[in-house]
Amino acid sequence: MTLKEITDLMRYPSESDLALLRKAYEFAETVHKDHKRYSGEPYFVHLFETAKLIAELGAGVSAISAGLLHDSIEDVSVEQETIRKEFGDDVLMLVDGVTKLGHLRYRGVDRYSESMRRLFIASSKDLRVLIIKLCDRLHNMRTLHHVPKDKQLRIARETLEIYAPIAYRLGIRKINRELEELSFPFAYPEEFERVKKLVNERKSDLLKRLDKFHKSLLKGMVRQNVPVASTNERLKGHYSLYSKLRNRDWDFEKIYDILAIRIMVKDVEDCYRALGAIHGIWRPLPGRVKDYIAFPKSNGYRSLHTTVFTGDGGIVEIQIRTEEMHHESEYGAALHAAYKERETVANGRNKRSLFGSLLSWRGISRSEKERPLLHVEDVGNGVPAWVRELGDLDSTIGEQEFWEHLREDFFKNRIFIFTPKGDVVDLPTDSSPIDFAYAIHSGIGDHLVGAKVGGKLMSIDTKLQNGDIVEILTKDSAHPTTKWLEIARTSIAKKHIRNSLQKQKSP
Ligand code: MN
Repeated sequence: MTLKEITDLMRYPSESDLALLRKAYEFAETVHKDHKRYSGEPYFVHLFETAKLIAELGAGVSAISAGLLHDSIEDVSVEQETIRKEFGDDVLMLVDGVTKLGHLRYRGVDRYSESMRRLFIASSKDLRVLIIKLCDRLHNMRTLHHVPKDKQLRIARETLEIYAPIAYRLGIRKINRELEELSFPFAYPEEFERVKKLVNERKSDLLKRLDKFHKSLLKGMVRQNVPVASTNERLKGHYSLYSKLRNRDWDFEKIYDILAIRIMVKDVEDCYRALGAIHGIWRPLPGRVKDYIAFPKSNGYRSLHTTVFTGDGGIVEIQIRTEEMHHESEYGAALHAAYKERETVANGRNKRSLFGSLLSWRGISRSEKERPLLHVEDVGNGVPAWVRELGDLDSTIGEQEFWEHLREDFFKNRIFIFTPKGDVVDLPTDSSPIDFAYAIHSGIGDHLVGAKVGGKLMSIDTKLQNGDIVEILTKDSAHPTTKWLEIARTSIAKKHIRNSLQKQKSP
């Protein structure tokens, strides 16, 4: 453990960044010196590893320092004032945010939604709080086997039910995958054993076939003149396999992406060329070609997917993307905007991966050249709209209702709806024109009188479909009615409708 391991992950840290980090590092080591983990290791190991994960996600000096200090108020009674004096307001705000969350505990719906609510309130002010919390949890999961048995199940379940979906929703696939794989054996031991057995019976045969196909794929790309930057391959993880097996009567033959190969190419044009070349050589499975470049997933994921018959009786999924898309899909596309310390945004690529140990992607890299910084988009404080909405929910609604909103807005699948001008709004499935109108602006929602879907006048309780183009018709004299509350799906729409109904009652 050295400070250099952390600073090496940062991109262009300044002298003052390094000084602040060194101070946080030494401070944490000192105040936690008599403090041990269940493993018997010094507690500082946990703080060090958490900070390293935060650095790898590309966050700046304040978030990394806060990672080193995140347990100092709660566990060793350091005063807030001391942190402010030594490390400044930004670091204190982050440490305080993480401390206030306390430990999210899965203890039935009521307590669960209460801590979720606190989580989103803290995160809606600054997404870095959520990032620190995720990294803290990831290290705790990596060391879960040291924790007393009676606690393991609860911690593993809440990781699967809260933290892994949050990582997914933020588009940080690396953390999402690792959290799922680490939790699974503790959360559902019997199911895990069952999946493990199924995999082990087939593993060596599958990997042999995958290697063989991988080689012919590389040859095929050369023959077709599609330059490939790098490729890697994987056998599907146990938990994600389990999620699919459960829905397919435990029939292994119905899983089409157990084997996958990723191809990284230089630009979007080459993505489509590679897809064309592959389909020219191997026959694709019908209905398995997916263009997430033209239609990204709601968490920002972009890639082309296809599944082909390999010719020896097997099938392999192929994912084609640029290296930038790859980096975004692993580390979170929207995340970079959340890091206010832009000049120190680290570029996690080309750095030794901290995530490699558990993951089964095995790489063949052709290019190690330095790549440019990610484009930083302005998405209002860096906090995605759905986090702000959840943090902003009316505090008078009951726990049960909050929980339902959470399930609808957060964990459910999302659809993309377009304005006639081509702007995109992402909404939960089964959303109506009412949800769409409020997602654009509360003033538009409050004066909605009708909607055109695909150019046709439709009723305002129409369930919108992914890709619909919706035009909202408004009138100054129009107002929401109580019926709208039953139609609306999103929390933001319901909140505004309630407010408006309240105002109508008491002018
Ligand atoms: Mn911790």
